[in-house]
Amino acid sequence: MEYRKLGNSGLTVSEISLGNWITHGAQVEDGIAEACVRTALDAGITTFDTADVYSNTKAESVLGQALKDIRRESIELCTKVCHPTGTGHNDRGLSRKHIMEACNGSLRRLQTDYIDVYYAHRYDYNTPLEETFLAFSDLVRQGKVHYIGVSEWNADQIARGAALAKELHIPFIASQPQYSMLWRVIEQEVVPASDQAGLGQITWSPLAQGILSGKYAPNAALPTGSRAAAEAGAPFFNKLAGQWLREDVLTAVQQLVPLAKEIGLTLPQLAVAWVLQHTYVSSVIIGASRPEQVLENVKASGVKLDPAIMTRIDEILNPWIER
Ligand code: NDP
Repeated sequence: MEYRKLGNSGLTVSEISLGNWITHGAQVEDGIAEACVRTALDAGITTFDTADVYSNTKAESVLGQALKDIRRESIELCTKVCHPTGTGHNDRGLSRKHIMEACNGSLRRLQTDYIDVYYAHRYDYNTPLEETFLAFSDLVRQGKVHYIGVSEWNADQIARGAALAKELHIPFIASQPQYSMLWRVIEQEVVPASDQAGLGQITWSPLAQGILSGKYAPNAALPTGSRAAAEAGAPFFNKLAGQWLREDVLTAVQQLVPLAKEIGLTLPQLAVAWVLQHTYVSSVIIGASRPEQVLENVKASGVKLDPAIMTRIDEILNPWIER
């Protein structure tokens, strides 16, 4: 496993992180979740990503349990606040009240005294940004949070957050957007704004939730046990990756399989390695429903792709790339 600096900060992260959206506390049994975490640790993954909202807070509890005996200093534990986690009108958003309460809940479930990177999961249009950043600043000064990040914020929101963070002297260091061979929308504005603000990208869904594993064959039934077929996974899969579950896209994806093989990779490894070719990416967060997937995907760490391979990927996927 190789390690990269996170933005302009002094923090280093494993260039592949393990995330537990949909899987822990929902799609997979706790024993399998723990085996995935153990496999990730053995492979050198030190950065773990979760959120209070994942599996309605259960994902944090499963991860906390799986990591409870691990030396805290040897891992980077990252979680998020914003999406609703209860039925109360304050159980959501980025108000001071919710941030403080949510952070305490996450610390309890994760069985830790501090969070390494605490993300605003989405922008909150109903709360003044000053209120949000002042709350983050207090958490940093209390030692409950070491660094601040944001997820899926646009360039303007990142720039305004960075200005406040500078005023408050708090380390705002990460942006967490979706990024894959098929979904490249950050390249135009988010990446330049992040560079300007000193943020590194910790990106999600490198396999487009499994589409870029090649296992969804055109005109075939959904594979048994896959996220698209799983009760816990299907709604999220359909919402965010459903657009690619089409014969033309899946046929193009199949053309990437021999290309990956030519350079000694599997398609999931090629997809993760593709993200890692971009130096503005500090870490790519993989998801896994079983340990074998972790074992396979971590082999993308350290892989250098020839520019000719990058061009051929673009030629194959071009009509379906979201920019
Ligand atoms: P991926 O695109 O890596 O999809 C992971 C899923 O693909 C696995 O659960 C598995 O599903 C399938 N898969 C993985 N490896 C293989 C393989 N080698 N062969 C075949 N199938 C494979 O990432 P996720 O969509 O899971 O996102 C990763 C993480 O990013 C999340 O856990 C979360 O931490 C973060 N995230 C952040 C968001 C945000 O808004 N900030 C939003 C979404 C995710 P299966 O076996 O069930 O088919």
